[in-house]
Amino acid sequence: MNDIELRQYVMETTEEFVLKHVAPVAKEIDEQERFPMATFKEMGRLGLTGIPFSQSYEGLGLNYSVYLAVIRRLARTCASTAMTLVSHSTLSCTPIDAFGTEEQKRSFLIPMILGQRIGAFALTEPGSGSDMASMSTVAVEQDGYFELTGSKAFITNANVADYYIVPAKTAPEKKSLGISLFVVESGTRGVQVSEHKEKKLGMRGSDTGSLTFSKVKIPSSQLIGKKNFGLPILHHTLVSARLGMAAIALGIAEESRKQCLEYVRQRKQFDQYLFQFQSIGNMLADMEMGINASELLLEKAVRLKEAGQPYMKEASEAKLFASEMVNRVTKNAIQIFGGYGYSRDLPLERYFRDAKLTEIGDGTSEIQRMIIVEELMRQEKRAKPEEGKRWVR
Ligand SMILES: Cc1cc2nc3c(=O)[nH]c(=O)nc-3n(C[C@H](O)[C@H](O)[C@H](O)COP(=O)(O)OP(=O)(O)OC[C@H]3O[C@@H](n4cnc5c(N)ncnc54)[C@H](O)[C@@H]3O)c2cc1C
Repeated sequence: MNDIELRQYVMETTEEFVLKHVAPVAKEIDEQERFPMATFKEMGRLGLTGIPFSQSYEGLGLNYSVYLAVIRRLARTCASTAMTLVSHSTLSCTPIDAFGTEEQKRSFLIPMILGQRIGAFALTEPGSGSDMASMSTVAVEQDGYFELTGSKAFITNANVADYYIVPAKTAPEKKSLGISLFVVESGTRGVQVSEHKEKKLGMRGSDTGSLTFSKVKIPSSQLIGKKNFGLPILHHTLVSARLGMAAIALGIAEESRKQCLEYVRQRKQFDQYLFQFQSIGNMLADMEMGINASELLLEKAVRLKEAGQPYMKEASEAKLFASEMVNRVTKNAIQIFGGYGYSRDLPLERYFRDAKLTEIGDGTSEIQRMIIVEELMRQEKRAKPEEGKRWVR
């Protein structure tokens, strides 16, 4: 199969998978706040957990744009499932894929790419969110291992993961330049998973929990990259994840628009179809424009990434624009459906709740604006930020 045929095959497989395995449970997993383990395993069986990774490590070796197209398609039906996949594939596999040793790739990456093992990326802490340099989890180097102590909060897949990617301070005095990343296996002595799952506004079919590490012994062979080299790994990983978040936002928005377009042609009030009211038409026009603009920003960022060019600013722009767009779109979609939109019989209220996370996860909107202006200043050479200043996500 050449790349074009493989891409087409992946999209057809995704469509079938969504119709058969995702759509029937999307409402239920939201209501029951249940992680759909069977759905995840099926994604692995179909190769969807390894789309952008090399065939040498059992991935499909396809472009990032194919991976994002799959995320977008999943998000149209179930944003929780899309988020589970981004947390697993982008946030958890990427650090090992890009910076891991051959041994780490064989031991941890391949089982994750095959969907046999689930990954979670554990950066956020109770006292450290946007400001990751303030993290208090530490890993002290001993003879042949690191001793990890600290806690993490709001971790997607925490309760279901087999491997955690854990950033910790290995040189606290160096702040953000003293962070290292580790692969931690879930059953390791001293690793404690939260007793109950986080109860959330949206994305309820994705698992979120917290972790505690009490003097956990991590073999030095599980250090990703070099000691104190965590910041570049985190930037590399989070920038990719922002594209995933933009794709989730686009998927939710597209489905909301589709449902609105069908409804405004059916529903009549005052002897007119809804689309004939100018104020409703304005909302539809804004939806259309917002979705198209988001798509272009995402395409631009992906093009740069695939060409090996810097794309931090463009990823933040794509994520910021798409996440603010989808919040407007889902709010207006409910408005267009009136009382029916507010009802839990329709999925629009779920899209509205799920959309909010895109403005928070992988760096809030405020942080994306900070990154954009910082990169802009750097590019324009009007100001050069001090070394190590960019501590935020
Ligand atoms: C459902 C869900 C899943 C998540 N999954 C993961 C995961 O898998 N792994 C992980 O590590 N984390 C995860 N997170 C955590 C998420 O990344 C953080 O919530 C996010 O980065 C914000 O951090 P915080 O919540 O601590 O907010 P804070 O950093 O405390 O921010 C609070 C508010 O202050 C604003 N703010 C902070 N700093 C500045 C500034 N310098 N300038 C202007 N405004 C500022 C923020 O924008 C925000 O509005 C998840 C969160 C949620 C809700």
